[in-house]
Amino acid sequence: MELSEEQFQRYARHLILDEVGEEGQEKLLATRVLVVGAGGLGSPMLLYLAAAGIGTIGIVDNDTVDLTNLQRQIVHATRSVGDLKVESARSTLSAVNDGIRIETHAFRLDPDNAAELIAGYDIVADGSDNFATRYLLTEQCFRLKKPLVAAALSPFEGQLSTFRPYLGAGHPCYRCLFRDPPPPDMVPRCEEAGILGAVAGVMGTLQAVEVLKDVLGLGDSLDGTLMIYDALQARFHRIKIAKDPECPTCGAGTHT
Ligand SMILES: [Zn+2]
Repeated sequence: MELSEEQFQRYARHLILDEVGEEGQEKLLATRVLVVGAGGLGSPMLLYLAAAGIGTIGIVDNDTVDLTNLQRQIVHATRSVGDLKVESARSTLSAVNDGIRIETHAFRLDPDNAAELIAGYDIVADGSDNFATRYLLTEQCFRLKKPLVAAALSPFEGQLSTFRPYLGAGHPCYRCLFRDPPPPDMVPRCEEAGILGAVAGVMGTLQAVEVLKDVLGLGDSLDGTLMIYDALQARFHRIKIAKDPECPTCGAGTHT
């Protein structure tokens, strides 16, 4: 694949980097990323991935844009209230970069459709806001051997990691860290808990950085560590995640 004149200009600040260059940009353009959720995390992530020239971006979300979303979900505009989030996001992303393909999936990810959808992408980024989706992605990305870049939010804090448990020892999955989902009444979602919108922006942007690094093979992956952003203390810290040999998803008793 040869870059066009327009692409040489659009991606000039990538091309000038030794770490990216033409080869890296072509890699980005050839990559298929699935973003789960076009909400607080998905919004900045989608914008940066589109701007960076990820060639095919899949968006899965069954929700419509609500006025209360706009405080943090910056891929959507006031005029899009009531529209499907995947369509609203598509329209914004196309305006940023019309040289990439956006694939919209306006349904809720569930155990019946997840494997088929994920199989069509190279890498998955979880921007969902619920444990059912998080555990489903953990399971399916492990089985299908897809890197999973996952983030989670609380009102003033964010967590981020990359999971590649199919690589074996030293590569934990989300369930090695959190074996079982908490009872549903223990976890308020954004709607009930509230969140400082920009915290979602920080985490979704970091998620985009980790996806781009993963595609380009740059730097250190978060695989095996959990990065935590404490907004009130203005502090980042990282904890190591051990692989749990008894993990019901990726432990010794399971097979890929
Ligand atoms: Zn595990």
